[in-house]
Amino acid sequence: MRLSRYFIPTLKENPQEAQILSHRFMLRAGMIHQEAQGIYSWLPLGLRVLKKIENIIREEQNKAGALEVLMPTLQPADLWRESGRFDAYGKEMLRIKDRHERDLLYSPTNEEMITAIFRKFVRSYRDLPKMFYQINWKFRDEIRPRFGVMRGREFLMKDNYSFDLNYEDAVNAYDLMYKTYLKTFKRLGVKVIPTQADSGPIGGDLSHEFCILAETGETTLYYDPIYDTLGSDFDHKDISELKKYYAATDEKHKPGDAPIPEEQLSVARGTEVGHIFYFGTKYSEVMNAKIVNPKGEEVLAHMGSYGIGVSRLVGAIIDASHDDKGIIWPESVAPYRIGLINLRSGDANCDKVSNDIYTQLTNNNEEVLYDDRDQRLGVKLADMELIGLPWQLIIGPKGIAQNTVELKCRKTNESQELSLESALNHMTKNNARAA
Ligand code: ATP
Ligand code: MG
Repeated sequence: MRLSRYFIPTLKENPQEAQILSHRFMLRAGMIHQEAQGIYSWLPLGLRVLKKIENIIREEQNKAGALEVLMPTLQPADLWRESGRFDAYGKEMLRIKDRHERDLLYSPTNEEMITAIFRKFVRSYRDLPKMFYQINWKFRDEIRPRFGVMRGREFLMKDNYSFDLNYEDAVNAYDLMYKTYLKTFKRLGVKVIPTQADSGPIGGDLSHEFCILAETGETTLYYDPIYDTLGSDFDHKDISELKKYYAATDEKHKPGDAPIPEEQLSVARGTEVGHIFYFGTKYSEVMNAKIVNPKGEEVLAHMGSYGIGVSRLVGAIIDASHDDKGIIWPESVAPYRIGLINLRSGDANCDKVSNDIYTQLTNNNEEVLYDDRDQRLGVKLADMELIGLPWQLIIGPKGIAQNTVELKCRKTNESQELSLESALNHMTKNNARAA
């Protein structure tokens, strides 16, 4: 993509309304535009990141055997009256009337609708297990929308629902999602800590919140320092071993809870990006979702739900990965992999070499953002740092004379003068190592 033809409405000044770094960088890098409190348009650069995150989540859900569906955002209130949540949900639920005065709502979550679909079509244990997921917009009229996409009113969520014959099978589904989340977040280039969360009256340890460490996080985490040493590789471990390591948010943590001394726990701020939850027969009971077991008896389906905050992740990743100049995108979610900078637009030689490189890279299916603008050098370099693409290829007259380009790694800040070929090799090798 040529920057001269693209649309990145960058801001030089820090926007006043943005209190946290990810929100500032997202506005300054022209990724989103606020339309109302907690409601945003996604501009081209931001949308590319959102889609990349979405696709990684989708691939891992599919690998786990979950089936993708898409349910409407506007739903009939009657379904929610069955579960009692039309009244119970409170002011976070946006209620709407259609032209016939029928009550609708903008879905804040989807247990009711998916349970209604399930009870209509699934009757036998032979059809189980089943997991259905969607990646779709939700609306919650949060009392304090803030921090940009981190706590929006309209936000994108991956929500998955599992249906099983009994408790044991439901735990298998839960564990599968637990593992899937570890794999997903690893691919997204962030470190998460699965914390034990409250699961209400059902009890047990069958609710975990997945939190990304970030100074600006909304919650405080207390966790076994083993998580720091495991790095991002703990998805290879056995699930029962993993669940033994202690981690909890301040809401749940009570001094003395952990199996290791309180003073040995690591304490850090974190942002919740995912939540997995087993809730048994809560919805199947009120909505009468029954299946026939092998003995021919009708039993209630055991359910779980599993959410990931897709749009929140865009901000959360920035909060976890940046420096004072801008965003540092993990390769897997970067809007483009390479930023090509022509240091002297207008100089015939620089233009020709840059254009040739751009053509060659795009023909190789590389994702390149090419700054071909007639702009001051300082502006170009600062914009590229702000946008935070993993690699910068910088083309200038000095390098051209020696047949080299400057290759800069955004994350390490290291620069090298290399032939174009070795620059490309270097990026590919580095990429393979990171994967
Ligand atoms: P929170 O405690 O942050 O309000 P929640 O417990 O209400 O979250 P869930 O109902 O479990 O969240 O939703 C699943 C995921 O959706 C959360 O883990 C979070 O990443 C994301 N999410 C929830 N509310 C919002 C919001 N207002 N804006 C953006 N993402 C959200
Ligand atoms: Mg909430």
